[in-house]
Amino acid sequence: MTNVKYHRVVLKLSGEALAGETGFGIHPPVIKEIAAQIKQVHDLGVQIGVVVGGGNIWRGETGAELGMDRAQADSMGMLATIMNGLALQDGLEHLGVEVRVQTSIDMRQVAEPYIRRRAIHHMEKGRVVIFAGGTGNPYFSTDSAAALRAAEIDADVILMAKNNVDGVYNADPNKDPNAKKFDELTQLDILNKGLKVMDSTASSLSMDNDIPFVVFNMAENGNIKRVVEGEKIGTTISGGKE
Ligand code: UDP
Repeated sequence: MTNVKYHRVVLKLSGEALAGETGFGIHPPVIKEIAAQIKQVHDLGVQIGVVVGGGNIWRGETGAELGMDRAQADSMGMLATIMNGLALQDGLEHLGVEVRVQTSIDMRQVAEPYIRRRAIHHMEKGRVVIFAGGTGNPYFSTDSAAALRAAEIDADVILMAKNNVDGVYNADPNKDPNAKKFDELTQLDILNKGLKVMDSTASSLSMDNDIPFVVFNMAENGNIKRVVEGEKIGTTISGGKE
């Protein structure tokens, strides 16, 4: 393997990342671009697990705000993430990358069930594993699923790919020209400063298991590879309390 900083990574892709400019649904040309960026990292010999979101199709919270039962609406959100997972598998396979989708909700005709040991085995064999369906539980997010899967498979880092921002700021950089970017933070800083980077479940999982997050802009081609190679871009949020 070439000289890389991280050997086993969990890449968290939000659903919006797959939607393209319309912000809704799945846009195959965008999937193709993301797949190409993942392949760049795969070509380095890095083991990759991908956790996909579903917000481009459905968010449980929105359904609940409109009067639906929250758990029911969240089940729909989890199914949305599986659609995204299958789309990404297709994109990667078109580039010749071997991929397995594992779902936290059984769907054996279209994907494997999530089995931790099997996921690790696939990764060791050089297959990308897409973790779809979130945690399989309502009231959670795919950020928490990323932190959970990262802990389970003993990943070195969670790569939190963003589309419209290149790290964590003290204010919204798209609205406030004086917003300042942080290069390094701890999960405690995130909680103490009330920064909205991930939900608190994801934060505490990262802290308890000491797994760092790197928040960076994926819109710039090659950035996933740059982070994996150790280039200092985006914001690194160390998992530990110090
Ligand atoms: N979801 C859930 N449990 C999980 C992960 C996701 O119920 O463990 C549901 C939840 O309704 C959420 C939706 O799936 O709104 C889509 O996931 P998320 O909002 O995390 O996607 P993203 O914002 O990353 O696109």
